[in-house]
Amino acid sequence: MECPICGTRDVGRVGQQGFFCRECCVEFTWKKGQLVLYRPDEEGELIPVEPIPPASEVMGT
Ligand SMILES: [Zn+2]
Repeated sequence: MECPICGTRDVGRVGQQGFFCRECCVEFTWKKGQLVLYRPDEEGELIPVEPIPPASEVMGT
């Protein structure tokens, strides 16, 4: 398993289908084939992360 964000293989397993990247500090899982990201906040609660838009879209603004 590789991290879909940074590509590292340093990912740990969380629960049955979740994974945690130590590089990005994000938890990720797949729901029906779609990648879902979570970032733990200061209290350890998992906050869904919005999909990051491609860099090409950001540069126009
Ligand atoms: Zn990562």
